[in-house]
Amino acid sequence: MQPTQPEHVTRLRRANIKVTRIRIALLDLLAAQERHMTADEITVALRKAGVRADRVTVYRNIDRMIQDGLLVPTLLPGRALHVGLCTRPDAAHHHHVVCERCGRVAETDGCPVREVWERLSREIQEQRGFQLTDHITQYVGICPECQRKGIKPRQ
Ligand SMILES: [Zn+2]
Ligand SMILES: [Zn+2]
Ligand SMILES: [Zn+2]
Repeated sequence: MQPTQPEHVTRLRRANIKVTRIRIALLDLLAAQERHMTADEITVALRKAGVRADRVTVYRNIDRMIQDGLLVPTLLPGRALHVGLCTRPDAAHHHHVVCERCGRVAETDGCPVREVWERLSREIQEQRGFQLTDHITQYVGICPECQRKGIKPRQ
């Protein structure tokens, strides 16, 4: 694992969550990997890096850091929930794109759902009776590196 990046300490402070060794290690790990991992993979990698952490503690920290926008839950068809790094947790509401082949996670700007939110809310309320409160959006694609390697989309 790469040495601690000072920006990770700053990120935790800005998110107003306590700076602990495990949280810094989590950010360092995901930044070095540049792709998403499952909570179990993260637990194993942290232990290999000499961070003493049991599974429950790792899960609890991941949950907290997702709530604070530092980590992003990611999902690919037929695969378990993974976690990636949000490199700009201070930015306005935005979503992420995940490479369906290697799991690389990248930032995107803005939110197309917000642009149609009012119409969508009205339609869903009228047609299904649900009062909309939130949305979960994630893009899936092939990252530049996988494209360079000639990797083609699935199917
Ligand atoms: Zn982000
Ligand atoms: Zn990729
Ligand atoms: Zn959105």
